[in-house]
Amino acid sequence: MLKSNTTGSDFKTESKCLKIRAHHLCCIQGFQGYGYSPAFVANLRAVISKIKAFPPRHLELVSKCDIICASCPSEKECTAQESVSSRRIRNMDLFVMKKLKIKEGAIMKADEAFRLINSQLANASYIEEVCGTCKWRQKCLWYMQDER
Ligand code: SF4
Ligand code: SF4
Repeated sequence: MLKSNTTGSDFKTESKCLKIRAHHLCCIQGFQGYGYSPAFVANLRAVISKIKAFPPRHLELVSKCDIICASCPSEKECTAQESVSSRRIRNMDLFVMKKLKIKEGAIMKADEAFRLINSQLANASYIEEVCGTCKWRQKCLWYMQDER
């Protein structure tokens, strides 16, 4: 679970809603500095900092490219609707949404979303459903917790 490390100074800036792929709720919690490129890592750090700075920030949960994908070298491949990667990753999002009982575009506070995903995806088979084909599993704290 992410914890706040700063206090708010500008409510409007801090409370801006962020668009996040549903399965990225897991990836954000597992991130420890590894990623597809330096730009990707820097962007993901910045996204995580924004959320940590204001845990009740609203997130729009989606099954398409988000603010994390925006700096990813694979964005084009993941955006192409018919690509294998696109379908595989979208299925990860849809599985998470199903387990959270939410629909495309649902808005949730970040801290509530993390609590919900950690309680609803505690089952090892669910984790495998989301993370089973991810190449970052051995670098991901969320995947490795409880020796999954
Ligand atoms: S193992 Fe991969 S897909 Fe699963 S939470 Fe970690 S980074 Fe995300
Ligand atoms: S691999 Fe695809 S889903 Fe994952 S961050 Fe990159 S563009 Fe987004």
